[in-house]
Amino acid sequence: MGAGAKLLTKGEANKAVETLFSHYGKVKYYLDFDGPLQLMVAAILSAQTRDETVNKITPALFAKYKSAKDFSKATESDLIRYIKSVSYAGNKALNIIAACKELVSQYGGNVPDDMDSLVALPGIGRKTANTILINGFGKVEGIPVDTWVMKLSYRIGISLAKSPEAVERDLMEKLDRKHWPKVAYLLKMHGKELCGKKPLCEKCPIARICPKNGV
Ligand code: SF4
Repeated sequence: MGAGAKLLTKGEANKAVETLFSHYGKVKYYLDFDGPLQLMVAAILSAQTRDETVNKITPALFAKYKSAKDFSKATESDLIRYIKSVSYAGNKALNIIAACKELVSQYGGNVPDDMDSLVALPGIGRKTANTILINGFGKVEGIPVDTWVMKLSYRIGISLAKSPEAVERDLMEKLDRKHWPKVAYLLKMHGKELCGKKPLCEKCPIARICPKNGV
């Protein structure tokens, strides 16, 4: 816990999130996809890469590789031709190929729809698994936690934890379940619009309840 950092109560945390949802209106997942397989591949590609970069390259990639079997037969250099603009393209290519080989051998070419099976796939951690479950299957078991979610949860006083797993536990404990599917995208949007490197607290709709930890 940071020195002097304050936590909101459950009521205040839900109020803060609801105020931000009203302020931003429609909040949605930011990667383009059609179906769980494309979502899985796009989510793997998106680690430490801008969403716009991923959305730019996936149409050509998905036009060429239409099934897990197609991806499973590709080589690293085949995929790199399409994904070279993302960071760690080589590792991501290898993870996509390895994950798709497992989809073919264990799941009939389909993406599994449970947390344990997803996190056992190469290149997929709990954040990506939550993303796939929520956006691909409408199943809400947790909250995807990325660096935006960690940073803003701390500032707003919803979680002062330092690991993604602990932040996710705090968010699930504090926030009503109805907020779980979209709160990660809400916090990212808020980070981009008002609560970035230099937070614009004077324009922020939750300035009165936010403890502004670390700001
Ligand atoms: S902009 Fe300021 S008031 Fe708003 S959430 Fe960020 S730190 Fe809190």
